[in-house]
Amino acid sequence: MKIFEQLLEDYVVDKDITPQALHDKIGAGLVYWADLDLQSLEIDVEPTNNDRINMTAAMQNLLTVLSQLILEDSLTGLFNRRYFKRALKSEMERNVREHRPVGLAVIDIDHFKRINDTWGHNVGDEVLKAVTMIMNRNVRQSDTLIRIGGEEFAVVMPNIRYQAAGDAMERLRADIANSIIPVDSDELRTSVSIGIAVREPNQIIHADELYKQADQALYQAKETGRNKVVLYGPPASTGLSSSEREALL
Ligand code: GH3
Ligand code: MG
Ligand code: MG
Repeated sequence: MKIFEQLLEDYVVDKDITPQALHDKIGAGLVYWADLDLQSLEIDVEPTNNDRINMTAAMQNLLTVLSQLILEDSLTGLFNRRYFKRALKSEMERNVREHRPVGLAVIDIDHFKRINDTWGHNVGDEVLKAVTMIMNRNVRQSDTLIRIGGEEFAVVMPNIRYQAAGDAMERLRADIANSIIPVDSDELRTSVSIGIAVREPNQIIHADELYKQADQALYQAKETGRNKVVLYGPPASTGLSSSEREALL
């Protein structure tokens, strides 16, 4: 019950909503009706107010907070692994519908364990946040950045070509490698290895397979020296000649 108590503390119930405004919201699909028995949750709130408008607003707030908790990584504020498969799958479905390419990058911080061992876990956390900030400033608005595990991230890049994905991730890699991260009264540097796979519009690859390809490319980046970007590929044949394909890229 503690989690619900915590969630309910954050409630801002919109008491000013008019019946007409509520009606409009329902029409726009924005309001979900649900019977929430607050008493059965043993929460110290006044259950005497039977106003369904307030109850609906409360339920909506609860759903918003819950969905944030479920899909967000609390340290970095990025989407978490739970969101990853869903985002990749839906992006790939869209890519099939719209005949557009989609790219996936998997990013892993190099020798991150050493940072923890040398500076402590809290500094490790600060590095994760600093790297997140650098990644955020290097991705496009349409890209989705996800923390898929401890010091491992993914970028889902809709509508991006093989070479453009490589260039974008190379800029990101260089930005991280050239950044100085202030920690305590000192500063440190870090680097990342990046593996990329791109699904061309006419290729038939499932989300799991694309992830495997990007992960394989990441493994190669680690094996061949770290602090580098490796593209899985070359891009699959599109039925075009190599010069036509070059022109497209
Ligand atoms: P490599 O270059 O091969 O990727 O080496 P690495 O040291 O980065 O990889 P390894 O998998 O050996 O270590 C990852 C470390 O990340 C181990 C784990 O303790 C640490 N880690 C995972 N999640 C967190 C976190 O949330 N905060 C901190 N500070 N450390 C974390
Ligand atoms: Mg690592
Ligand atoms: Mg790792």
